[in-house]
Amino acid sequence: METSSSEDLMSWFEEIATNAGKIQMETLKKILEMNHGVEYLEKWLGDIEDIDKIDGEALRSIYVSLVPLASHADLEPYIRKIADGDTSPILTKQPITTLSLSSGTTEGRQKYVPFTSHSSKTTLQIFKLAAANRSRVYPTREGGKILEFIYGSKQFKTKGGLVAGTATTHYFASQEFKIKQQQTKSFTCSPLEVIFSGDYKQSTYCHFLLGLFYSPQVEFITSTFAYGIVQSLSLFEDYWREICDDLFNGTLSPKITLLNIRRSVLDVIKPNPCLATLIRSQCEELERCNWYCLIPKLWPNAKYVYSIMTGSMQPYLEKLRHYTGDKLPLVSAEYGSTESWVGVNMDPCNAPENVTFTVVPTFAYFEFIPLHKVCDKVAVVVGGGGCDDYLEDDPVPLSKVKMGQQYEIVLTTFTGLYRYRLGDVVEVAGFYQATPKLKFLCRRKLILTINIDKNTENDLQLAVQKGSKPLLKSQAELVDFTSHANTSNQPGHYMVYWEIKGKVSEHILATCCNEMDAAFVDHGYVVSRKTNSIGPLELCIVEHGTFKKIMEHFIGNGATMSQFKTPRCTTNQVLLKILNLSTTKRFLSTAYE
Ligand code: AMP
Repeated sequence: METSSSEDLMSWFEEIATNAGKIQMETLKKILEMNHGVEYLEKWLGDIEDIDKIDGEALRSIYVSLVPLASHADLEPYIRKIADGDTSPILTKQPITTLSLSSGTTEGRQKYVPFTSHSSKTTLQIFKLAAANRSRVYPTREGGKILEFIYGSKQFKTKGGLVAGTATTHYFASQEFKIKQQQTKSFTCSPLEVIFSGDYKQSTYCHFLLGLFYSPQVEFITSTFAYGIVQSLSLFEDYWREICDDLFNGTLSPKITLLNIRRSVLDVIKPNPCLATLIRSQCEELERCNWYCLIPKLWPNAKYVYSIMTGSMQPYLEKLRHYTGDKLPLVSAEYGSTESWVGVNMDPCNAPENVTFTVVPTFAYFEFIPLHKVCDKVAVVVGGGGCDDYLEDDPVPLSKVKMGQQYEIVLTTFTGLYRYRLGDVVEVAGFYQATPKLKFLCRRKLILTINIDKNTENDLQLAVQKGSKPLLKSQAELVDFTSHANTSNQPGHYMVYWEIKGKVSEHILATCCNEMDAAFVDHGYVVSRKTNSIGPLELCIVEHGTFKKIMEHFIGNGATMSQFKTPRCTTNQVLLKILNLSTTKRFLSTAYE
């Protein structure tokens, strides 16, 4: 990005952040003006005349009193009609021609969400804003390269002929992505053919080959979610010898069978025996020390690693730190969803554990449902599809959020979602001018519950983190994990599946199992365990490669590596079958005996 446009962007952001409350009102007005009269809004606002002539607080108050909070299930019949080819103004006046498929790893089911040019524009905008902000702290060289582990999935047509695919895929295919490639001062190592190969292994191989071919020029390493980098680097451990051969000779392994990738990669690489020999000797040394410090060794000029590292990505931080040898900063990327972008990381120096996301008030109209843990006494339940993990107050606008308070985010978007509950729980950790800085806490949906116990993804993550500490004694590491609340027998019990790399004794695993069980601090769980209305936690150790199989199962169903998140809890029968068939050892907790 040119210096002047970075500065313009930063001053634009200062301006909208300073006037966030006013900008939010304007955003709501714009959305309602654009979509006034569409079927969904007509249902709720039909009796209001000239809504497009109403302004400010009056408009907000009519809107929130007449249009109810909605979940994806409420909007699904409308989205289905659009997918089936109904071109009447259902959610937006402008016909929707593209649908995004959310990763589906939250609820085990992929959801369609409208995608418009606004979606690509805001993606480009947030990327440019984040890049401008990052380059103040970690300047990169003009003309440098970015090693991006990004993957487009296949786009397909719905029954009604609309293009469908993941949001990242639509973005990589958009004009905006091309603009980003042209306007930013660093370029992705891989051509579009590699990003869009449709075969994540072939793409990853080529990302590495090109990333190493350009290694002295690589300025930073990135993927959408941290899982993408960790998964790719684990593949590198298998591929590096062949990659070095290809670098040496300027060839491409027969592993790469897709013709258009072959052509595009062979167009770029040339034999480089000197670089290949250096990389080979570094890899031999790295292999001996379990790939510690791999990133700075192979990409000596890389300034940082950039990816979403918060929420369900936090368990991969240890592995990322291993790969960087703690020598490169880990910069946590922005916060958004298939439905809308939410916030930008304005403090790139913060460790991923402390990152906050500054809400961009032009992206959508945001509301915040105050949440109180059930034990807090102040709250009133306001219905509308919540879970019983929290009590809720009435939603408040962005200008009324309070420091330290937890909220569920509600979105009204330019793409036709009205008062849509995103399902994420955040905490207001501060303010940037007048716009809140959010700390991502977890997805709202309870994942482990059998009777009165209530454990979120975050609770499971903390329990697994504590429970896996004894592994360090054996130099083993936890690769990935998931869980299942098993109620097929009485009493029901939690099953937690771990994939481990390295050798561990049964004694240590039994200790891990007990410590994990004792680490669930939820009062309902502890009481139920003590009274045996929840049975002993079961730790299942699965064989090497099981979680890769799970990821491949999702990719086979249209997900993309770029947006993949390991489901932290599952009731999906196919996944449970994969997990149970791969279980090699089981341990039952004795923590409450
Ligand atoms: P999807 O649209 O299916 O790819 O997933 C979007 C979801 O990913 C969000 O609703 C969040 O739960 C999660 N997510 C996205 N960005 C972040 C982030 N920066 N930190 C934590 N979780 C995130």
